[in-house]
Amino acid sequence: MKVKAAVLQEMGRPTPYAKSKPIVIEELELAPPHDDEVLVKLLYAGLCHSDLSVINASRPRPTPMAMGHEAVGRIEQVGSNVDTVKVGDIVSCVFVPSCGTCDSCRTGRPATCTTGAKANGAGLLLCGQSHLSRTKVSSPNEPKMIHHLLGVAAFSTYSVMNKNSVVKIDPSIPPKYAAVFGCAVITGVGAVVNTAKIEFGASVAIVGLGGVGFCALLGAVAAGASNIIVVDLEASKLELAKKLGASHAVQSKRDMSMDDLVQSIKQLTKNSRGVDYAFEMAGTGPTLQLAYGITRPGGTTVTAGLPHPETKFAVPQVTITAEERTVKGSYLGSCVPTRDIPRYVQLFQEGRLPVDKLVSGVIRLEEINEGFDQLDQGKVVRLLLKLHEDEE
Ligand SMILES: [Zn+2]
Ligand SMILES: [Zn+2]
Repeated sequence: MKVKAAVLQEMGRPTPYAKSKPIVIEELELAPPHDDEVLVKLLYAGLCHSDLSVINASRPRPTPMAMGHEAVGRIEQVGSNVDTVKVGDIVSCVFVPSCGTCDSCRTGRPATCTTGAKANGAGLLLCGQSHLSRTKVSSPNEPKMIHHLLGVAAFSTYSVMNKNSVVKIDPSIPPKYAAVFGCAVITGVGAVVNTAKIEFGASVAIVGLGGVGFCALLGAVAAGASNIIVVDLEASKLELAKKLGASHAVQSKRDMSMDDLVQSIKQLTKNSRGVDYAFEMAGTGPTLQLAYGITRPGGTTVTAGLPHPETKFAVPQVTITAEERTVKGSYLGSCVPTRDIPRYVQLFQEGRLPVDKLVSGVIRLEEINEGFDQLDQGKVVRLLLKLHEDEE
C-alpha cells in the first residue's frame, strides 16, 4: 500500500531545519505484514529528543530512514502468528522490539533485548528486513530501500511493526495523550520507579526538562518523592515544573561554573549534602557531571539521556568507594512495556500522571522540520504530529 512518511535524507544538516530540510515527506510503498507483524494506522506521534539525536548525528543510524518512535495507532491488519492484539485495538508503540528469547528478555529486562538492539541499529524490523521502499528514484544513486527508526517509523500514515513493538492500551484514553506513553512516559516514570525504585519521601533532583525529564518529575511526584529539585536552562519549563509539583526550580546558565551550580543546588538539600536520587535527563557530559555532583554520599545517580557515543564521564573514583555511590543507566525506563504502559495509562486516567499538561501543541506532517527546530531550541516539551485529518 502507499503511505506518506517523514524520511530523514541524511544526518547532520545544519539548523535551522526549516531551511536545511533534513526531513522530506515522501510517498512510499509499504509491504504487508509478515506472520509476526502488524499493520498500524498511526494517529498521533510525538517529536522526541532521540529523533533529534539521529537528525543531528549524535546517535548515528543508517539513512534514508523513516522517522518517529513515540506514537499511538490502531491495528488495521495482523499476521497469522499474532495473538496479542487484534484488528481495531488501540496500541502504544514501543521502541525496543523485544525478541522474548535472548538473555535480557529471559531475565525480565526486555529494554535491553540484544536482538531488538541489533535490528534497531541496522534500521530494520526484527524480521531483518525493511518494509518501506521508494516507488520511484530520480537517479541510480538514490537508495530505494528506506530504513525504519527503532522498529516503529511512526511519522507516517501507516507502518508495519513487529507484534512486540506494540502494546494494547485502554481505548478510552484520548489518542492525543496516549501518544507519549511509549517513550516519554515509560522512560521518565520508569527511571524513577523501576531503575531507581525511589523510596516514599526520598529527595530527588531532575536535570533536564524535556518530555522524559518532565515525566520523571510526574513519576517522582506520584511515587511520593520529597524536596523535588528541577534544573533546566529554560525559564518557561521551570515554571511549568513548579505547577506540576517541583519544590525548587533552578535555572542553569551556560556560562555558570559547574562548582557554583553544584553548590547552589546542594544548598537546597538537607544539610547541603545532596539529594538521595539525581536523574540526568538531557544526555550531555555536563548534565551527568551535575547530576553526580548533587547526589549525596550513599545516593544514586540515574542517567536516561542519550549522549553522543564519544562522550565520556569522569569522576573522582574514590567517591564511588568511600561514599558508596551508585550510577545507574536507564533505558526505556527499565520497563516491561506490556506491564508498565497499561499501568501508567490507568494512573493518567486516575489523574495521578497528568501527561496532558506536557503537550505543547499539535502539528501536521508537513511542518515537521519546523517542529524539530522548536524542540532543538528547548521551546517545547512535547509537540505531536496528527497523522490523519479524519481521525480524532
Ligand atoms: Zn523518544
Ligand atoms: Zn530479546
